[in-house]
Amino acid sequence: MTQMQPIRIAGAGPSGLAAAIALAKGGRAVEVHEARPDVGTRFIGDLQIIESASEREPIPTFLDRIGIVRNFYFRPADWATFYDHTRVPRVIRSGEPYGWFIRRGAEEGTLDRGLLAQARDAGAKVTFNSRLGIDVADIVATGPAAPDGLAREMTWRTEEPERVDVYFDHKLSPGGYSYLFILDGFATFGCAIVADFKRIDDYFDHSLAAAQKLHRFVIPSETRTGYSYMNFHLKQRATSDHARFVGEAAGFQDYLFGLGIRYALTSGNLAARSILEGRDFDDLWRAELGAKQETSLVNRFLYETGGNFGLAMFVRQAAHARDFRGYLSKWHRRPSWKSMLAPMVRRFWRHRGRCQHKPGEHWCRSRDTEMKVPPLGPAS
Ligand SMILES: Cc1cc2nc3c(=O)[nH]c(=O)nc-3n(C[C@H](O)[C@H](O)[C@H](O)COP(=O)(O)OP(=O)(O)OC[C@H]3O[C@@H](n4cnc5c(N)ncnc54)[C@H](O)[C@@H]3O)c2cc1C
Repeated sequence: MTQMQPIRIAGAGPSGLAAAIALAKGGRAVEVHEARPDVGTRFIGDLQIIESASEREPIPTFLDRIGIVRNFYFRPADWATFYDHTRVPRVIRSGEPYGWFIRRGAEEGTLDRGLLAQARDAGAKVTFNSRLGIDVADIVATGPAAPDGLAREMTWRTEEPERVDVYFDHKLSPGGYSYLFILDGFATFGCAIVADFKRIDDYFDHSLAAAQKLHRFVIPSETRTGYSYMNFHLKQRATSDHARFVGEAAGFQDYLFGLGIRYALTSGNLAARSILEGRDFDDLWRAELGAKQETSLVNRFLYETGGNFGLAMFVRQAAHARDFRGYLSKWHRRPSWKSMLAPMVRRFWRHRGRCQHKPGEHWCRSRDTEMKVPPLGPAS
């Protein structure tokens, strides 16, 4: 890559656009190619959270540091109601926000549109309806490479009172959770699962019925529904030849709750830094994200093996904690017992046929079979 050549990025999701913003601000020519006609087409205007508990650095400071301004819907999350399988409501509160609500999709006010405007303002050229082969991309930011988790969501406009409800029950959403967010006139109901994908509609319907039994809320006739995969992957490398893989294309995701936006923004920014500063991308992400993602896999192991008893304990402890962000941040820490457990969990995960993907290869098989894609390196 010479200084004169534009950096080519495949994918205009949060990871690709975070990379584009940093590169363009760093004085490099940048071309972002987006396969779809707009940004955010994977989503339907849904409320999502950029979590703020996995790092000490609060989200506003993090965004400032990576050069992202808040030109999108951005609202602190400092309360919620959690339910376990007994359906007893438990209110959780947080002194410092445990996250920040944003919206996703191809519409005004979303994170996607906000990042697009910032990338263009910084000088990046974004081309829609342009699918870029990963063999010619410098940064591959193409989103989920393999289906490790599946979510169905529904969104609608509403006048109902605000709610942030999360339902933890493996019967309603195996390995995952369901949620109802009503904020500022926008409602999102979702069900995320990590097993039995064929029955996603049943799980969604049962979760919705359970939520409505707890609190009647009106769903208008005009709603939007979307399905989307999530991709988790522990890897040795996120590079292949000259390409750097970022965001979910490389499986950067929080295993515990599937909150991948912070990983996407961080890995996109690190890929840009590796180019601007001439540093090794694999070294950079391993230092910042490697141990963190492995710890999140241990958390997922505990989440799944604890069953509904474990989830009920989690919900009770979260409600008793004076500060939910502080409580959640303990889960992200890596005490010695978690470090010792990690290799065993990785082996167990492989044994279950999970976490085996070489993202480049899967991407090739599932989405773009005409392309010959080199593997990313040895699978974990
Ligand atoms: C239902 C649901 C709810 C979620 N909620 C949360 C949440 O609350 N908090 C959170 O942190 N995370 C959440 N996540 C995860 C989060 O949305 C993702 O981790 C994040 O969007 C990943 O960003 P990305 O840039 O890697 O990929 P994406 O956002 O998927 O963007 C990839 C882009 O690349 C494009 N593309 C694909 N192939 C090509 C190609 N060959 N050439 C050009 N363009 C291409 C796609 O069209 C897409 O626009 C959720 C995920 C789902 C499915």
